[in-house]
Amino acid sequence: MEPTTPSVEAPQEHAFKAEMQQLLHLLIHSLYTHQDIFLRELISNASDALNKVRFRMLTDREVRDAEAALRIELTADPEAGTLTIEDTGIGMTATELTERLGTVASSGTLSFLQEMKQSGQPLDGEMIGEFGVGFYSAFMVAERVVVETCPADQNEPAHRWTSDGAGTYTVEPIDRQQRGTRITLHLREQAHEYAQEARIRHVIQKYSNFIDFPIALGGTQVNTVEALWRKPKGELVPEEVKAFYQFVAHDYQDPLGHLHVKVEGTTTFRALLFVPAQAPPGLFRDDFQRKLHLYAAGVFIQDNSDLLPEYLRFIRGVVDTEDLPLNVSREVTQESPSLRKISKILVNRVLSLLRDWAEAERSTAGSDEPDTRYATFFEQFGALFKLGINTDEGNREAILDLLRYESTHTEAGAYTSLQAYVDRMQEGQETIYYALGDHRTVLERTPNLEYFKKHNVEVLLLTDPVDVFTFPYLATYQEYPLQSIEKADLDLVSSDAVEEASTGGDQEALLARMKTVLEGRVQEVRPSKRLVDSAATLVVGSGGVDRHMERMMQMMNQGLSSAPKVLEVNLGHPLIRNLNHLVATPDQDATVVQAIEQLYAGALLLEGSLEDPASFVERMTAFMVSATTPDAPPA
Ligand code: ADP
Ligand code: MG
Repeated sequence: MEPTTPSVEAPQEHAFKAEMQQLLHLLIHSLYTHQDIFLRELISNASDALNKVRFRMLTDREVRDAEAALRIELTADPEAGTLTIEDTGIGMTATELTERLGTVASSGTLSFLQEMKQSGQPLDGEMIGEFGVGFYSAFMVAERVVVETCPADQNEPAHRWTSDGAGTYTVEPIDRQQRGTRITLHLREQAHEYAQEARIRHVIQKYSNFIDFPIALGGTQVNTVEALWRKPKGELVPEEVKAFYQFVAHDYQDPLGHLHVKVEGTTTFRALLFVPAQAPPGLFRDDFQRKLHLYAAGVFIQDNSDLLPEYLRFIRGVVDTEDLPLNVSREVTQESPSLRKISKILVNRVLSLLRDWAEAERSTAGSDEPDTRYATFFEQFGALFKLGINTDEGNREAILDLLRYESTHTEAGAYTSLQAYVDRMQEGQETIYYALGDHRTVLERTPNLEYFKKHNVEVLLLTDPVDVFTFPYLATYQEYPLQSIEKADLDLVSSDAVEEASTGGDQEALLARMKTVLEGRVQEVRPSKRLVDSAATLVVGSGGVDRHMERMMQMMNQGLSSAPKVLEVNLGHPLIRNLNHLVATPDQDATVVQAIEQLYAGALLLEGSLEDPASFVERMTAFMVSATTPDAPPA
């Protein structure tokens, strides 16, 4: 709805982008929980704007109102049903108004929220701030929002932005000289509580208490402007630390634990870091960018994503260092050797905190008060944390020691460490064995596990989707090689199946017949050392990958064909013994061929890749017919 003759004085009407309209609709009609957070979002925007102007003033002397106090002021008017949030921050130009208050920052936001809604999950106000749509949360409580803003740049005039959130907004020039932004919310009938000072004061104390700038309400300051992380350890009050966590993490729960770091010397910094008790929604999305707040000598510099590696991106908190110049730019921080040193120390501290928890879990196991912090951490963040074994070479062993997996020696849902596995290894066992799959129950039934069950050799059962991407890339733990039980060249402790088997019949002839029948479909046919009860199984030949891994790779790369497998045959199995005899009888060849086809199809079925179930059932029916016909000649 662009007007045809733009006039400088008249309000110009603009339409929100289609995506924005849908998003607003969702916000207004689907978000009923935690409506309070609109205030946190507006105050946090004001604080961002104040940080930006403070930063700019470090290098630019021409800023408008250079002497103005950096502050936020709230005014509640119960008569008018309005709430006003005003800051002396950087303000916005007319262009910025349309660019920033008319589009959604992250393109994935809308689809993410829609998916959540469709899947029946309640949309929680808490999520809003995560997705760069904080400003629009104002429409949860306001039927009309007016933004009056005057930019820090002295040459740029002030403007007013007005919208009822229903599709369009207007922008017009106004006469305002004072730097900063005033946002007036004309509250909806049901939201008039937010025009009450007492209510507002409560919300500020709950969500915005630790904002770095004074927040005034009705003339008095409401928040504590205090850098908690600068206090000595002994002076930190647990309640305050929790409240600070809730503030930095935008979480309403208590943290699982925290780290207070003070380092002095060649590198000087303080940090207050937190492990949340629950993974936030979207943690595993590619565009999830949780950042630590980086301060230089007590002044906020930026939200920095390079302070901790990806696999620790669930950690929240603040890092404050004396080692950076105040007017440092983002490019500089990325390359900064001081930050790299800080990062290294922080990673070590986080890993050692986790080690402490793991140790506490071990030493309290079975007691009246078992320490469950490690289990909670691993349940919530383990999948992300595991990525560290591939990306953080320097801490690989430390991370490996912290990983937990199910195994044939744990109950379903219980975990073992690799160290505990090694401690349980059998006399003569040199290898750590694992099996990859979707579900424990399926893995437990794979024929490839029979040998291990019989000999009571422990096998790790890896069912977390990220295991496929991490575990096979590990060659060893301590000095022990890691091996998939699906690999053909498995080193087994003993191999009794083969010895038991060599009773009568012509195995060589049978194996040769199998090879010709399955020509092109299997790489090889060979006697099995690992089968106990089953007649045949498919395993991975040289250079091949696990079936489960192959499936994952095929999902990502359509058209990738399967590598032929090795068919292993249990020479001790009665069926194979019978076939050994039959293969010598030429007029039984048709039956032998059908049996070979059925064995192969059965192995495919078990690994979940049988593509022709109809023929499978047909052959099976034929065999059953001959087995049940009363005067059938002995097969
Ligand atoms: P985010 O804060 O994640 O960028 P928001 O929806 O909260 O997303 O705000 C959108 C943008 O609007 C901000 O990035 C900022 O550029 C601008 N903005 C919002 N409030 C203010 C304000 N009080 N002063 C200056 N700019 C603001
Ligand atoms: Mg914001």
